[in-house]
Amino acid sequence: MTEHHKSNIYFQRCGNNLNANIISLRKLLDQLEPKFTSSDKVGIKIHWGERDNISFLPADYTAEIVNWVKSMGAKPFVFDTTVLYSGGRRDAESALKTAREHGFTPQKLGCPVVIGDGSDGTDVIDIPSGYKHFPSVQVTSLIESTDAFVIFSHFKGHLLAGFGGAIKNISMGFASRAQKQRMHADVQPQLNTDKCTRCGKCAEICPQNAIEFHQYMYPNFELDKCIGCAQCIGICPQVAIKVQWNVDKTTFQERLVETAAAVWNIIHDRTLLITAAINITKECDCMSGENPRVYQDVGFWGGYNPVILDRATIDKVGEQAIEKAHSNLPWRKQFTFATQIGFVKQ
Ligand code: SF4
Ligand code: SF4
Repeated sequence: MTEHHKSNIYFQRCGNNLNANIISLRKLLDQLEPKFTSSDKVGIKIHWGERDNISFLPADYTAEIVNWVKSMGAKPFVFDTTVLYSGGRRDAESALKTAREHGFTPQKLGCPVVIGDGSDGTDVIDIPSGYKHFPSVQVTSLIESTDAFVIFSHFKGHLLAGFGGAIKNISMGFASRAQKQRMHADVQPQLNTDKCTRCGKCAEICPQNAIEFHQYMYPNFELDKCIGCAQCIGICPQVAIKVQWNVDKTTFQERLVETAAAVWNIIHDRTLLITAAINITKECDCMSGENPRVYQDVGFWGGYNPVILDRATIDKVGEQAIEKAHSNLPWRKQFTFATQIGFVKQ
């Protein structure tokens, strides 16, 4: 394994159809130095799109990366984590169903498809952060059990972040459901009794014993004890505790970057990044239905630091693509905050 400088960036322009694009991706892969060795277990982080989303990258690109990893004797698997909101990815069962419907099957990819936070969202661990917003962040336990990672990101717009690339794929993509909620809001749990089945799981997971629960009664949240960790929101199988989205837009950018930086601290020396600026849509692949394109297809990037890779992608695509989609969002804060906390040097 050769040491590559974090600022090394590789680019391959795409073609004008799927086959040509796969050839471009292969050319890019051939230029990259893998961060894994033969027999390593390699987690390929992707996003297979929300149910009814039509802008996600087809599974053919991921399959090409899987082939490349296998050609070096390593053992790849593909993964993503579950999300906060109800839909086609709230739990492992629905997420895997959506993956299958979008063509991301073990047969097509040639490797297992895994839910990073496990069957019920509890395969997660706390890792240190301590920059500005979080003393620790909660992420998939794969961060401990996986030898190396390939982060395969789809560059496009995003309704809160402005754009989504490698930083967001590592941040939201590795985060537990509770950590996703912490990034989106300062939590004050609010129960919807119409949805609650009184299963008691929220009370079991609460680290503060802030949820009083007796069989035959709805849980009672003692907010003076609550520390806003959001684990009750993350665990609830019925989405009966309100998911909150009301954080200040600049704070959200910082929290997104901080979570990515905490993950990167742990995985940076065993992780390779690939970004595709193809199907550059206004919103991310979490959205279902129509999603207009805001820029033409550009190509594939490879690199070794997510901040540098996202900056290089935007420099090539042009800031106007993001401005056209989300002129009111402080997306540049991702870069200033990343510089401020030293993320760009890792
Ligand atoms: S986890 Fe959800 S469904 Fe279960 S008791 Fe708590 S709020 Fe109700
Ligand atoms: S947010 Fe955390 S501390 Fe507050 S009630 Fe929910 S689980 Fe308990």
